[in-house]
Amino acid sequence: MSLNELDYSGAVLNKDDPVLRTDGLKKAFGGLVATDDVTLEVERGSITGLIGPNGAGKSTLFNLVSGFYDLDDGQVFVNDEEVTDAPPHEVSRAGLVRTFQTPRRLEGMTVREAMLVGPRPQVGESVLSLFTSPSSVTEEESFNIDRAIDLLERFEIDHLIDQPSTELSGGQLKLVELARAITTDPDVLLLDEPVAGVNPTLANDIKRFIKELNDEGQTFCIIEHDMSFIMDLADPIIVLDQGRVLMEGTPDEVRNDPRVIEAYLGGGE
Ligand code: ADP
Ligand code: MG
Repeated sequence: MSLNELDYSGAVLNKDDPVLRTDGLKKAFGGLVATDDVTLEVERGSITGLIGPNGAGKSTLFNLVSGFYDLDDGQVFVNDEEVTDAPPHEVSRAGLVRTFQTPRRLEGMTVREAMLVGPRPQVGESVLSLFTSPSSVTEEESFNIDRAIDLLERFEIDHLIDQPSTELSGGQLKLVELARAITTDPDVLLLDEPVAGVNPTLANDIKRFIKELNDEGQTFCIIEHDMSFIMDLADPIIVLDQGRVLMEGTPDEVRNDPRVIEAYLGGGE
């Protein structure tokens, strides 16, 4: 059974202070429409959840708004600045930073070094030159290093700072990725499945860290497959299905919406 066209009520719009807005985003891969007219807003200060069955287009949406994929159609605004078709470093400069579903393993780098490869560009020089010529470290960059170390302490992984990043567990790598993204001080941080493959204890820690950072003002938009995790953390939650926004609501509204249940069942989950 597939959902009727009319069953898609879309996202809640005209929010007070959206840090991210998309308008009519479209993306197809060959004949497959991965993102179909996605219009949504992420309110500043919120933890906005993004859920949907496998293949619903969640990661594609992150790739589109963060400049990693080219759009077929539509517009993206970060802090009211249009970043449609802008490359990732310009989108991050505008205030939007994302993490990846599968964090990149930074071969040959320690955690300390990996932390410095921020999504924001280190202006005019390669990251490694920070280590070979410390005098080239600018004030802003040294601030970032301190901030990075603070975050590692807070995430209770500061003892790993001189470990090769390839030796970290999946969960530890997620924390490094999170810390690294926070270091760039984004206005909105997009997390793609922050607890996928992470053990339950560490997943709980990650939930707590996200809550604390949000209490301090950090805005998040989070894709997560683990329902109890996202229902605990996010409000509102936007539900994607077959590339479209099925609905947006509170965790309770989403949990009790028959369309959401049907979308998940129809998606074979
Ligand atoms: P989700 O993250 O919700 O599981 P994705 O956004 O990864 O879903 O994928 C949505 C659809 O787009 C899937 O059918 C997927 O196979 C397809 N897709 C995503 N990225 C690409 C790509 N780079 N090339 C071809 N197809 C893709
Ligand atoms: Mg995905």
